[in-house]
Amino acid sequence: MHSKPLPIAEAIPALKPPVDPATLEHKHLLSGPFWQKIPSYAAVSEGEFLDHKWQSKNTITNIPKLLEAIGDLVPPEFVEDASRGFQQAPMSVRVSPYLLSLIDWSHPYEDPLRIQFIPLASKLLPDHPKLGLDSLHERADAPVPGLTHRYVDKALFLTLDTCPVYCRFCTRSYAVGTDTDAVEKDTLHVSEDRWRRAFAYVASRPELEDIVISGGDSYNLRAAQVTQIGETLLQMPNIRRIRFATKGPAVMPQKLLTDDAWLDALTKVVERGRKLHKEAVVHTHFNHPNEITYITEQAMNRLFERGIIVRNQSVLQRGVNDAIATMKLLVKRLGHVNVHPYYVYVHDLVKGVEDLRTTLATALHLEKHVRGSTAGFNTPTFVVDAPGGGGKRDAHSYEHYDRETGISVYTSPAVHQDAYYLYFDPIDALSVAVQARWADEKERQRMVDAAMAQAKIQKI
Ligand SMILES: *Cc1c(COP(=O)(O)O)cnc(C)c1O
Ligand code: SF4
Repeated sequence: MHSKPLPIAEAIPALKPPVDPATLEHKHLLSGPFWQKIPSYAAVSEGEFLDHKWQSKNTITNIPKLLEAIGDLVPPEFVEDASRGFQQAPMSVRVSPYLLSLIDWSHPYEDPLRIQFIPLASKLLPDHPKLGLDSLHERADAPVPGLTHRYVDKALFLTLDTCPVYCRFCTRSYAVGTDTDAVEKDTLHVSEDRWRRAFAYVASRPELEDIVISGGDSYNLRAAQVTQIGETLLQMPNIRRIRFATKGPAVMPQKLLTDDAWLDALTKVVERGRKLHKEAVVHTHFNHPNEITYITEQAMNRLFERGIIVRNQSVLQRGVNDAIATMKLLVKRLGHVNVHPYYVYVHDLVKGVEDLRTTLATALHLEKHVRGSTAGFNTPTFVVDAPGGGGKRDAHSYEHYDRETGISVYTSPAVHQDAYYLYFDPIDALSVAVQARWADEKERQRMVDAAMAQAKIQKI
């Protein structure tokens, strides 16, 4: 039988009020030569801007160059503020032209992309007293440097320590990027010996099935390295799933359009996996709907056409994506470009970015509004990565949460049978009275002890 699509002709009386298509904001992606607003890119053609080589070559990697690039767009006080921000922040500088062009420089203080990549001294807050570098204990769970085996059946492999951009909120600021004034970092360079040892460990553990290939960032692996890592893992009988983690699509989608060698290498790994009935996918990292443009859509279409599954992990950040409308729009827009929203992380306790963290209550509130607004499989789980090595917990699964003191307590029986893990809301979000208690070391301990005692009583 020959079947054609049915014609859609008649108008059906509506039960719901009509919706103006113009209000479906998630479908309206930024298009046109938006980069030409930046004076130094005014003459850059679409062909150039969509070329990943042009993006890489023009990526800004030092503070004076960055300040110079934005100098004509913002008031001098802003440049001064950013310059002092960089002096205090433990991060390296790397900003792609794509990112720079997506920032609304007429409102640089509020812009959600500026907030993520350019620190301002005037906005920085003191670190939380309970914060430690490598707050997630990735190094303590590493049998080989750069290979974290915390969960039973999955491991995280940090293949290299560079990224296409450097983010303020990076959890791995202990390793990623070159040394800065404020932090001396461990190094996790590409090293055949280190990789070999990591692979040997993975092969020796029959319970390991699932490997996250991260970094740094998989975008910075050469095509041949993508093939090598993919093939090596897929050939191990114990391995069933691999994920290439990369922020790339959010900050330089151009690579997926013009770096055919890299994308072909990834595609071959995915296809090889499919033949072996194993899953190879991409995990990416969009945080704000403005990061998704017509260029992103083209890039994601290219992956979709090749049957490559893409999932997204966002980091919840104050002033970036902590408003209901923004988070809902991000989730819908990700779905629109065929990216599955997988996780929203409550911001880890990381040095120098206290101004970016939100309370756990914010996450719970957002989740309530997001769930139900689109398909369940496109609805992210809000998680807390429990400091101290507890791993990711559903944000709602705390044993106890005191919204007054900002202390939440989690357990993680699949990871450590009897351990308790504490997460702390940012102090400036608490009441003045409680802030005073946090300033006193003895009071601090009392609050923590009280929370722990409650958690033990309430534990289910
Ligand atoms: C996040 C993470 C994983 C992967 O966890 P999923 O919940 O499956 O996404 C694996 N190992 C470590 C150390 C991680 O932090
Ligand atoms: S791209 Fe990822 S690993 Fe690299 S700096 Fe940003 S958050 Fe960290």
